Amino acid sequence: MNVYDSWRIAAMLDARGMVATKDVADADIIILNTCSVREKATNKVFSELGRVRDTKKPGALFGIVGCVAREAGATAFHRIPELNFVLGPQSYHRLPQILDDPDTKLLNIDLGGLEKFDELPQMVHAPTVSYIPIQEGCNHCCTYCIVPYTRGREVSRAFDDVVRDTLHAAKNGAVEICFLGQNVNGYKYTDENGKTYRLSDLIRAAAKMPEIRRIRFTSSYPTEMTDDLIQMFATEPKLLPFLNMPIQSGSPDVLRRMNRPYSLDAYMEIIDKLRAARGDIQISSDFIVGFPGETDSDFEQTLEIARRVRYINSYSFKYSPRPHTAAATMPNQIPENIKRERLAVLDNALNEIQREFNESCVDKTLPCLCEGTDKTGRHLLYRTPYMQQCIVAKPKDDNIPTMANIKITAANRASLRGKIISD
Ligand code: SAH
Repeated sequence: MNVYDSWRIAAMLDARGMVATKDVADADIIILNTCSVREKATNKVFSELGRVRDTKKPGALFGIVGCVAREAGATAFHRIPELNFVLGPQSYHRLPQILDDPDTKLLNIDLGGLEKFDELPQMVHAPTVSYIPIQEGCNHCCTYCIVPYTRGREVSRAFDDVVRDTLHAAKNGAVEICFLGQNVNGYKYTDENGKTYRLSDLIRAAAKMPEIRRIRFTSSYPTEMTDDLIQMFATEPKLLPFLNMPIQSGSPDVLRRMNRPYSLDAYMEIIDKLRAARGDIQISSDFIVGFPGETDSDFEQTLEIARRVRYINSYSFKYSPRPHTAAATMPNQIPENIKRERLAVLDNALNEIQREFNESCVDKTLPCLCEGTDKTGRHLLYRTPYMQQCIVAKPKDDNIPTMANIKITAANRASLRGKIISD
């Protein structure tokens, strides 16, 4: 979602005739787009802002947008008085105001819902992999999570607006669409005639567009995987056989305290249904270790579920207490050294599973999408249907197929190697 927001911010400045520079000292405006999900990222923002202040050229504007801006509000100006603007994740479309009136201090951290989508200019070029936001905010209120505070309650965009944006992306270069939302599979929009649309309807509409070859979505809440959506994996070949469905913990007690009220049986039942719909589907997860009160045996249960589901790719984090969340004030906060140990153990287990899955792909031929070249310019970087990176030697004739069948020749934990068999 942050990557998407950054694109839109860049496109707004583009529309004003500005060009990007990598050199802070050369820039007329410097914008930090920020995430507040974990404390460490938040702290980095303020030290980085201090560095920008000391490096930027005199008169250059600088500020923060995104969730740290929303969380800090006016206090950001107290911490860094030279800041010119502080704009939340739903008010960054107001950024051009600071260009028109550089002497003001621009502060807006309102939760405007979907207003920004109506105000942002359309993007001229669509990236090969285009993100299309379909809903913002979240109603789940997991006790660790700051998102309901920073991005507000859940709102779904109008079905026709999403289809229009998807078509625009398709006509301007997109080959893969990734539908985005903090609770993406909770998407629900009822039009003026009373017809209700779900994520499965959006997938069906995108799949009809010939330019779009691959479709995916993130991030999903387990119990919102409704049967119509699961069936899409059986019936829609453009929908990739890969799903991020965070379980967070394998302990029912921890899940209850996290306010993620699904049982392990219910979670496994969804996985079974997904596998019945599409035999080769692979799952990834997010995990939090060291949630308040997590015991050794709770943690063991997380390891157990990771091995049972065989997640092929996961994000794991140490629990980070966040303002405005219930878990931050829960008793039995876990000491940092235990969190660190548990994270290392979990990461080891997850890495092993990932390496085994990658190795099981050797000798298979997979339809892959080209996402660019590596730093040396000698290799092409492709993405498999399971979101693995596959490195391929660049053909001498510079013929770079956007989609190619690639035979996998080698694998390690992080990536695959392969050769192009056919376009
Ligand atoms: N909708 C997703 C949230 C995405 S935020 C969900 O199911 O929860 C990305 C990930 O950050 C979360 O899945 C969670 O694992 C992690 N996260 C969120 N708040 C956190 C916190 N306070 N400490 C550590 N990790 C956190």
